Amino acid sequence: MPRVQSVEEDYGKPLSPERLDEMVQRVSGWALLSGVQKKITATEFPERLEPMPFTLFPSILPADVLSKTKSLQTAFQTVIYKVANNHEFMKACLSGLLNVDDFTQQLWKIYETVRNEGTTQEVSIILTRNDYMMEYAEEDGVKQDCKQVEFNTFASGAGGVISSMVDVHRYSLSLEDILFKDNQLPDNHPTAGLAKGLVKAWQLYKNKRAALLFIVGIPEPNTPDQRWLERDILRLDGSIKVIYRTFPQLIKQMTLGENKELIVDGTEVAIVYYRYGYAPKHYPTDAEFKLRLDMERSRAIKCPTVAFHLAGCKKIQQVLAEPGVLEKFIDGTDVIKDLRSTFVGLYKLDTKDSSKIITQALQTPERFVLKPQREGGGNNLFGDELKDYLEKIKESPELSSWILMDRIRAAKHRNRLIRVGLGPECRDVVSELGIFGVHISTPTSELENFECGYLLRTKPEEANEGGLFSGHSCLDSPFLV
Ligand code: ADP
Ligand code: MG
Repeated sequence: MPRVQSVEEDYGKPLSPERLDEMVQRVSGWALLSGVQKKITATEFPERLEPMPFTLFPSILPADVLSKTKSLQTAFQTVIYKVANNHEFMKACLSGLLNVDDFTQQLWKIYETVRNEGTTQEVSIILTRNDYMMEYAEEDGVKQDCKQVEFNTFASGAGGVISSMVDVHRYSLSLEDILFKDNQLPDNHPTAGLAKGLVKAWQLYKNKRAALLFIVGIPEPNTPDQRWLERDILRLDGSIKVIYRTFPQLIKQMTLGENKELIVDGTEVAIVYYRYGYAPKHYPTDAEFKLRLDMERSRAIKCPTVAFHLAGCKKIQQVLAEPGVLEKFIDGTDVIKDLRSTFVGLYKLDTKDSSKIITQALQTPERFVLKPQREGGGNNLFGDELKDYLEKIKESPELSSWILMDRIRAAKHRNRLIRVGLGPECRDVVSELGIFGVHISTPTSELENFECGYLLRTKPEEANEGGLFSGHSCLDSPFLV
């Protein structure tokens, strides 16, 4: 059995209950001071804040896992870029599910409408986060392999609030006299890179008076995360006007100009940056889809376009994992081998060969995850729920809108989770590592492609999903060994 590792237990000394209490108070205070915050939405007061859930100490992570996942980011972005610009491939992947998945169908209609009308904006930008979980490669519990959970092309969050988590952990370690080398807790500031990307795209629009529009939720708990990004944008160019709007506000305030300029309350918009709009519930009426269509039609640079949004579908991830498919999008045997080494089994459910895998999933549901084409957490099925639902739809056309994925056996370690609803005792936990990146392109060329930091988040071992903003998992930092 792999040895369960913990910074506190391996490098420090046990905390007495009094000391733990003091540590939680002091480290929470440091988290708030450092901007590791989320908004309390159950209040009328605009910016009442609380600390984001966090781990009391950083978590041990092999340095080679971090360097490998970071090094793969630009190649993954190139693949997604080529997918988003390959109409035939997108159509072949998604056409089977359009009749059974209303939301994807609506996005597809917007994509096709604008494609047929002809695009007015050649430039696209994506801010990505490629999420992985770590598995022990061997029984000795030292070497870990990183396995891809999903590639996010839409509203990739937490790059701000993670940006000073490492300071919080340097503080908690120093309170406990736990020594570490500088390169074991490196700086990590994703929003610096994400901001650089947005500013670069804004410059490409070539109108200094045009604004950068953040589309945000109702209510929006993530304002602190977005402010981090805004601050880094303004540090790069203080003249950029950043505006925030919700879908209902835009429905009232947005118009298209003569040359398809996107105008909000008299201000031209250079960049539409979506932090909202990934879930069916964000589109309660046709007006929201019409709004999305008009924004897609506009001259503004979209972050992301509907094509890149669709390229982030789980169905696309499943097809990319089929033999010979990556080869269509990227050259180089070594890079293809490295990308593929991060894939676990991904299965379509709607062909005549699918019955074998469906039977396996019904017999051993704990080995799989059943996923629809949705984002934002809380949509996947595990265990008995997976079994019951798969049993229900196994003969139905709805099967096309789901994929099945091997469940990653995430490497267990120990830490204290400081979040509402859980005690701060040292417990068995698992982590997810997300790598941030920026990619700017036209249909014919890649203009920028870089990696810009990471998100480590940690949840109880027994939890299925690990949403940060839903409060399931806690911000963490890697303690590199
Ligand atoms: P979403 O788009 O809703 O974020 P994800 O694919 O990221 O969907 O899944 C949500 C969460 O479910 C992940 O953050 C992870 O905690 C868990 N999860 C997803 N796929 C797997 C898997 N194959 N094995 C183990 N856990 C998984
Ligand atoms: Mg996810």
